[in-house]
Amino acid sequence: MVTPAEILAKLAKVFTVISLRYVLFAGVLYFIFYIWKKRSFIQQKIQAKFPTRNDLMREIGYSISSMLMFAVVASIMFVLRKNGYTKVYLDFNEHSIGYFIFSVVVFIVVHDAYFYWMHRFMHWKKIYKYVHKVHHLSTNPTPWAAFSFHPLEALIEIGILPIMLFTIPIHPFAILIWVLYQTGMNVLGHLGFELFPKGFTQNTITQFSNTSTHHNMHHRYVNCNYGLYFNYWDKWMGTNHAQYHETFDSIANRKSESTADPILLESQTIQT
Ligand SMILES: [Zn+2]
Ligand SMILES: [Zn+2]
Repeated sequence: MVTPAEILAKLAKVFTVISLRYVLFAGVLYFIFYIWKKRSFIQQKIQAKFPTRNDLMREIGYSISSMLMFAVVASIMFVLRKNGYTKVYLDFNEHSIGYFIFSVVVFIVVHDAYFYWMHRFMHWKKIYKYVHKVHHLSTNPTPWAAFSFHPLEALIEIGILPIMLFTIPIHPFAILIWVLYQTGMNVLGHLGFELFPKGFTQNTITQFSNTSTHHNMHHRYVNCNYGLYFNYWDKWMGTNHAQYHETFDSIANRKSESTADPILLESQTIQT
């Protein structure tokens, strides 16, 4: 049996670890792109404006509340695992290395589908203003916005964890790989700067990956570009912004242009 003291200790530990992970990912990228190398990367800024102090405080505040919701769900899963209710396996030899890799891929692909449909559901106008609107208060997101959710949305977002842990045998290390990948991609989507090269969104292989511009356009225009890791759901459902590729290429092109005036760059960005 797991005691209440053990659960509280686990909750405190998980909250600390995932908050540090958020601060590390978002903080390092924010420091590089918005402070230290701001001038070097200015041509790759997707929207010309920079966030206000209030934007940052709101994004960080809601993200900390999301970390608490994530920690509660993760701690509940810990108790359920200890009592044998999940399919988590601790002995690495219980399944092959091939299965281990397969489980990571399945986790990511299923999460991508879960995110796309849950995201479209949260854009349904009857519930949008009660749950998802908080995330869209960031119309020009920074890395700190990656987990800036209403507490209810945080619960819906972390819903993928119990779904996976109850469904397929999965090793904690596979869960860790997924956590790092999803944090990295999520922070990249909210970076506010485009790092991928021109043609990336239409290359045979790389077209399957989403980009920072893709999610930035979601925050700017709202009813388009719902996907997380990959672009195929938006492609299949016809929800990519009509000018996604042109916008991406116009930003990726700027690297070779002589101007670094963000106001001029903004006027060059394709508008709806
Ligand atoms: Zn949205
Ligand atoms: Zn977002």
